[in-house]
Amino acid sequence: MSETLTPAARLRQHFSSRVINQVRQLLDIWRRLPELQWSKQAMNDFILATEKLARFAQRFKAERHESIARDMLIILQQIRPGRSPNTAQLEQLNHHVLLLSQTALRHTDDDNADHLIPSKKPVYIALADTDNALTMAEQMQYFGLLPELKRTTHDFVESLQQRHPSAIVMDIDFGGQGAGIDLADRIQQSRDISLPIIFTYRSAAPTIVERLNAMRHGGVGMYPDTEVQLVIGHLEQLLDHSPQPPYKILVVDDSRAQATHAASVLNKAGMLSQVSNDPLQVLDALASFNPDLVLMDMYMPECNGMELAKVIRQQREHLNLPIIYLSGEDDRERQLEAMAEGGDDFLTKPVEPGHLLTTIRTRVERSRQLYRLISRDSLTGLLNHTHMLETLQDLLNRRGKRPLSFVMVDIDHFKNINDTHGHPVGDVVIKNLALFLRQNLRKSDPIGRYGGEEFAVVLQDADEQQAQIVMDKIRNNFSNLIHAGLRELKVTFSCGVAQSAGESAATLVERADQALYCAKRGGRNQVAMAGPPQAAADE
Ligand code: GH3
Ligand code: MG
Ligand code: MG
Repeated sequence: MSETLTPAARLRQHFSSRVINQVRQLLDIWRRLPELQWSKQAMNDFILATEKLARFAQRFKAERHESIARDMLIILQQIRPGRSPNTAQLEQLNHHVLLLSQTALRHTDDDNADHLIPSKKPVYIALADTDNALTMAEQMQYFGLLPELKRTTHDFVESLQQRHPSAIVMDIDFGGQGAGIDLADRIQQSRDISLPIIFTYRSAAPTIVERLNAMRHGGVGMYPDTEVQLVIGHLEQLLDHSPQPPYKILVVDDSRAQATHAASVLNKAGMLSQVSNDPLQVLDALASFNPDLVLMDMYMPECNGMELAKVIRQQREHLNLPIIYLSGEDDRERQLEAMAEGGDDFLTKPVEPGHLLTTIRTRVERSRQLYRLISRDSLTGLLNHTHMLETLQDLLNRRGKRPLSFVMVDIDHFKNINDTHGHPVGDVVIKNLALFLRQNLRKSDPIGRYGGEEFAVVLQDADEQQAQIVMDKIRNNFSNLIHAGLRELKVTFSCGVAQSAGESAATLVERADQALYCAKRGGRNQVAMAGPPQAAADE
């Protein structure tokens, strides 16, 4: 593709890649800050990286990046040398880092956006079955990955010496029976951090011994080699380096000194904390702060921790909220009793900071995993209907003056696909569209599976025209995909786009749905806009 660029375009591409490269470096330092305990040196590196980004962005006219970097510098200047940021500063920095990581992620933002992501490392494919390897490579390309086929062990080892891949997809029998795992063993031995390997197998499902072996040599997943979509989905998750939202911890302790101490340990680790000294305010704090976990004192004046935990648990929305007691109580019987009453863990004061942080991390990760599972559709991993609507409502409440568009997507003549090729092929098409939307939209744009072959997307910071352009480009590219390896099977979809005019989520969805209906009636394979709401609909 790059051969067709004009010299001016190539120059522009080169410059923008400098900016994006600098963003990456900055994000890298940001990720390491907590484990370095915000040391003076690390903070300095971070400030330098931010300054450099501001300079590059200004020179190469990347205005959005420049303004984010400048905002960050203002916050950074307020942190006293040798100190870690307080909760408010941490929150602001987190917000800006998230914004940075989301810029330029919508491939459709720029004609050259695909090349905008430099230093993208390849994914090695080492399958025993050549046909499957080709299909896998072909599909990966559609999804923006950089596959490299390795045909022999020699070929594989040779390339590894030249360029490291971001991940490897390898048949456990690549190069002979069980030889794939042996090869993995060899690769990992010479490395400090192991390369993630997704193993595949051809016929019989691997035994537990084989699975253990694979896992011990860097195996992060195991799939039949025909499950291309599962492998790509896993890779996508593996290679997604966008920062996770920071952990939010509510500290409940009637002693100010103890609470502040805990909060500062958490802040140093990059977690956001809020302190509540009054147990009677805790329910309000839960609603406004929406924490990932509660760190709870045991003995407080108005009520004890156990009672409070019980009340919290009586509310459905907090059933999955981890509660850890942090208390001077060292009677094991009392501790067990407290855990039976809705607590997840019991730490005895004084607790070693490392121990506290590890316990918190484990608990929050678990509960986030669980949440992901219940809020997502099992076939596609997208938000399910209920959570999509909740997310939409939430974004509408928080959007302020920024434009927001809602899009309904519906596959054209999907019934025919099922009828002609069978239901499993229909499922593959649905999964492809899900993955395709994910790859081509910003990470900040929520995507949901609305119903069977219907999807919904929220485009933040996009008015109706912009949303139309984005979706039309995706529509066009999608119509060129080949599904399930069937050359004759091409699929199109139709879209309805509606920009929020301040109405309720339900009305906005209704307007997008009307527009979708127009797109269908207009001949399908097109994107229709709702236009401004009718005066009558305003009420
Ligand atoms: P149109 O272009 O008007 O949208 O026509 P259509 O055939 O796509 O729409 P219709 O609503 O008539 O048919 C949708 C079909 O999608 C019917 C249903 O059996 C099928 N379907 C719904 N969920 C799934 C699913 O999870 N997997 C598969 N394979 N098919 C599904
Ligand atoms: Mg349909
Ligand atoms: Mg339908």
